[in-house]
Amino acid sequence: MLEKVLIANRGEIALRILRACKELKIKTVAVHSTADRNLMHVRLADESVCIGPPSSLESYLNIPAIISAMEISGADAVHPGYGFLSENANFAEQVERSGFIFVGPRPDTIRAMGDKVSAINVMIKAGVPTVPGSNGPVTSDSEHTLAVAKKIGYPIMIKAAAGGGGRGMRVVHEEANLLQSIQVTQAEAGSYFGSDVVYMEKFLDNPRHVEIQVIGDGEGKAICLGDRDCSMQRRHQKVVEEAPAPGISDKARANIMQICIKACEDLKYRGAGTLEFLYQDGQFYFIEMNTRVQVEHPVTELITGIDIVKEQLQIAGGFGLSVKQEDIVFTGHAIECRINAEDPYTFLPCPGKITMFHAPGGNGIRVDSHIYSGYSVPPHYDSLIAKLISHGPTRDAAIGRMQNALEELLVDGIKTNAPLQSDIMRDPGFRAGGMNIHYLETMLKQKHGSIKH
Ligand code: ADP
Repeated sequence: MLEKVLIANRGEIALRILRACKELKIKTVAVHSTADRNLMHVRLADESVCIGPPSSLESYLNIPAIISAMEISGADAVHPGYGFLSENANFAEQVERSGFIFVGPRPDTIRAMGDKVSAINVMIKAGVPTVPGSNGPVTSDSEHTLAVAKKIGYPIMIKAAAGGGGRGMRVVHEEANLLQSIQVTQAEAGSYFGSDVVYMEKFLDNPRHVEIQVIGDGEGKAICLGDRDCSMQRRHQKVVEEAPAPGISDKARANIMQICIKACEDLKYRGAGTLEFLYQDGQFYFIEMNTRVQVEHPVTELITGIDIVKEQLQIAGGFGLSVKQEDIVFTGHAIECRINAEDPYTFLPCPGKITMFHAPGGNGIRVDSHIYSGYSVPPHYDSLIAKLISHGPTRDAAIGRMQNALEELLVDGIKTNAPLQSDIMRDPGFRAGGMNIHYLETMLKQKHGSIKH
């Protein structure tokens, strides 16, 4: 088994990884920026190393500093969490070249999936259904581009091959705007992601976001832990997630799970991963694969009883998968509400000192959070401060428990989006289940029309 893991992340996920390491009796090394000395997992880790100033570029994205911290501390592996370096193939490669273990897929897999055009082509080869599209980069041959677009049919979405975080995407409704929109998206992609490669995809008008959790042992065996619905989004960012996705038939679910297992086995996929799909009119359309643990992994853990982070660590340690597909049992329904340090109506970030924090509890409630009374949320990073996760025998029961948890939650000193989450839990559309990815923004516009969302 691994002996000492360096956690190359911060916040709730760093604490989540630390807890899994402790359960497996693995020693931990926390790395942190000068703004993060007071993080909970830094206090709880066996060792900690300061790797740079507050700016992520100079700390959590600073590859030489992290590799030096591994050398100094004698760690044998690094867990990258999500965000930061988690999907950086060069980082994974340098970790392995320096003789350490990267808790995640092989660098070449990360590279293939990091480029969305190449990911789509890998998936087509593996028999995974994709969105009708160019399946290749847009070239400078505008006649060809117009012809491809015509064949796909308008509206069309132009997407950056290296895109992420909901940026680098643009919808085009008519041919007259296509070429100019491509140019604008290329320029944006170049400045955000350092690559101006874009591709075209049919813009689906009524999709849900449904994703499939997989774990592979790296030797050709893979399991699937079912699906999650993450359609409640604002600006392409997930706000509420749940498992299983409501209203999907057992047959359709079994079918897509089988397709994803086969794709991962073909790829000899190593570690945890998520295939993201748009789901419309009963059909799944692959959009991208995330080669890391997801923010929303706890909803899957609650309905399967499988600890995804422990699986990641065990696979990295050479022990393979701890469960077989036929032993996985799905129980009840789970919901996650992301609690962000932000104004619930304007969405402006609200960093600052938390004067008082009280976490909800009780049957079927899990709170993944690094905050505590007296903790100051720094302004330099993501605004996620807690994840409330509820589990119940039915979807209604899980929603009811979440409503109670949101009422019990107390975060004083800063604003959070908890009031918005309560609104969502009360909303008749959300309660009915199966709303599309535009639903939340429409709901926000109706409620607070004057505020720009
Ligand atoms: P990112 O890597 O930036 O998260 P994705 O490809 O996962 O980008 O897309 C993010 C979101 O954008 C999706 O969850 C969905 O809401 C929307 N989206 C992406 N592709 C399409 C499409 N072809 N049609 C409609 N909506 C789309």
